[in-house]
Amino acid sequence: MRFAAGVDGGGTRTTVECRTMEGAALCREVFGPFNLNSVGEERFTALLEEIAGFLEKTGECAALCIGAAGVSNPRVRELTARVMDGVCPWRLAGEVLNTYIIVEQGETVYFIDKHAAHERMNFDRMKAEGYTPMSQTLLTPAICRLSPGQRDALLGQRELLEEFGFEVDELGADLAVRRAPDHVDAADVPAALEELAQRLLSTGTADPSAARDELLHTMACKAAIKGGWHSAPQELERVVQAVMSGQVRYCPHGRPVAIELTKKELEKQFKRA
Ligand SMILES: [Zn+2]
Repeated sequence: MRFAAGVDGGGTRTTVECRTMEGAALCREVFGPFNLNSVGEERFTALLEEIAGFLEKTGECAALCIGAAGVSNPRVRELTARVMDGVCPWRLAGEVLNTYIIVEQGETVYFIDKHAAHERMNFDRMKAEGYTPMSQTLLTPAICRLSPGQRDALLGQRELLEEFGFEVDELGADLAVRRAPDHVDAADVPAALEELAQRLLSTGTADPSAARDELLHTMACKAAIKGGWHSAPQELERVVQAVMSGQVRYCPHGRPVAIELTKKELEKQFKRA
């Protein structure tokens, strides 16, 4: 017999259930609007473990991952991933195109965009812990040639830029950058500021917290491992850990950090099904 299991969160009610593919419920609990505090993590975890028990017996462990992917509460995802990991550990199978990490878990293969995932990890960390980079004086100032709009957008955020380690001066129609965070390569400084200016222009600069987020996005991106470049195995492992634990799902711009391909989908491609 095959099983489907899922955690369906949000809205007016929440269901945690495990049922056969024919629809018969094996274990099922319905809560009110989802609030982990009122449900209790212990009770929630116990339910997940009950589901995991069914899955373990049948080996259909991919189903719980899929069900859990629809839940937006990060703590629920974390708990689900922890139970899942016990049932069905993941394996880093390799990397292709110096960009996509391949991970196998149960009957699902994940392709993880290493840059997008790492950028998200940096962004979350910077947001939680604050971003206070070491700033260094550039040997020769980096000159940014920008459109008048981009230039004004940056000059309007001068204080924020300084807080983030950039010292910027007007130089005719250009901007001269005298100091920059030490993890940004001097040659990358003009591109980083141009990207930032563009982001500030598209979000608008009226909201200071939005402007701060744009700056964090840019710095998280610049501090992340790059697609197309070689990464150390330990770096890849850390990224996979964050994605498979459910901690990271979307890059700061909302693009997914991982896509999945199931055994069934592969079989269909090979016309084995
Ligand atoms: Zn990026």
